[in-house]
Amino acid sequence: MEEKHISVLGSTGSIGTQTLEIARAYPHIKIRAMSARANIRLLEAQAREFLPELVCVTDEAKAAELKIKLADTPIKVVSGKSGLIEAARIDGADTVVTAVVGISGLEPTIKAIKAGKNIALANKETLVTGGHIVTKLAKENNVKILPVDSEHSAIFQSLQGCRDDREIKRILLTASGGPFFGKTRAELENITPGDALKHPNWDMGAKVTIDSSTLVNKGLEVIEAKWLFGVDIDKIKVLVHRQSIVHSMVEFVDNGIIAQLGAPDMRLPIQYALTYPNRLAMTKNELNFAEHPALTFEEPDTDTFFALALAQRAGREGGNLPAVFNGADEAAVELFLNGKIPYLAIADAIAEAMDKIEKINDPSLEEILETDKAAKEFVYRRQK
Ligand code: NDP
Ligand code: MG
Repeated sequence: MEEKHISVLGSTGSIGTQTLEIARAYPHIKIRAMSARANIRLLEAQAREFLPELVCVTDEAKAAELKIKLADTPIKVVSGKSGLIEAARIDGADTVVTAVVGISGLEPTIKAIKAGKNIALANKETLVTGGHIVTKLAKENNVKILPVDSEHSAIFQSLQGCRDDREIKRILLTASGGPFFGKTRAELENITPGDALKHPNWDMGAKVTIDSSTLVNKGLEVIEAKWLFGVDIDKIKVLVHRQSIVHSMVEFVDNGIIAQLGAPDMRLPIQYALTYPNRLAMTKNELNFAEHPALTFEEPDTDTFFALALAQRAGREGGNLPAVFNGADEAAVELFLNGKIPYLAIADAIAEAMDKIEKINDPSLEEILETDKAAKEFVYRRQK
């Protein structure tokens, strides 16, 4: 197989480690660069195994520690935001896997696209906050944005036979419903971080797990789908599908529906983004239909989980409003995980930030980053 060279931003996380698992299974996938925020224990082990040219630790002090630990190797250790950009732009890599959390993924992704890299996009916050900039740049630089998010990979896979986008009637975006599906607002009042970190079907990083429980994640995914597939927000229908077997579907103008199914396993969407348009064999996790006699679909409860409705509004209105939604959520999730605000305050904080932060049409990158800061500061101040 032809060699493939990749850079993995966020290699120590849930998506990052699964990306390396695929590279371990398929040694023609070579790792040129990798990054973490602070987990240098794991990053050192990964670096010694995969021997990239460069590793980045965004935390400066931890980067200095890792530099000493890797002194016996030729691996270059860089740090901070500039280091992350260096990892994103590294020579020789054709694809960058963006698996960092939050808006921190936006600038490195933009820089990678400008350097002509294809993007295997896990970091949905990139398209939510900067979709208009990123999709335009990708076109101009003739690079692909290949979805890693399981739903978007499913949509992408379902669209492989589609030759004309006008044939798409709507997208059916499935949602597991998270751990609190069916609960009332009153029942959610005393939810602790421990309760919210238990996802029924997927084992993911903390932020995306909390976002799944509030349906913020599904809201981010609606906006992500709008940019990836060029479909209006109102043509993206969210369906709660508790079993997470149907990963999403596309309905065409003739009412035919194509879906992608499989066991819940992120390795497939990650691998497909790295091997597209080819499919390579995968170990474990075959779907056994007999174990899933019922696949169910129902409407989401957007009164209780109104963050989904807020995201749909943000996606429809556009401008910097999705960046407000995203920044407010990042700050609120952090406060919730640190025991500073109750569970239900996450969506309340997002709603208030969306009303209070100044609206900007067609924001520049700087304006998006300023909006993010303003939304976060608003949420931090709000709880004092
Ligand atoms: P994790 O929290 O598991 O991992 C995040 C990775 O990014 C780690 O390597 C972490 O380093 C690093 N990181 C965290 N914050 C920063 C920062 N501010 N700057 C630089 N690096 C940082 O996250 P996930 O793997 O779950 O998610 C990554 C992205 O993929 C998210 O955007 C998420 O929404 C998306 N996604 C995840 C899915 C999943 O199944 N996990 C499914 C679909 C999408 P360290 O380990 O040192 O903290
Ligand atoms: Mg998803």
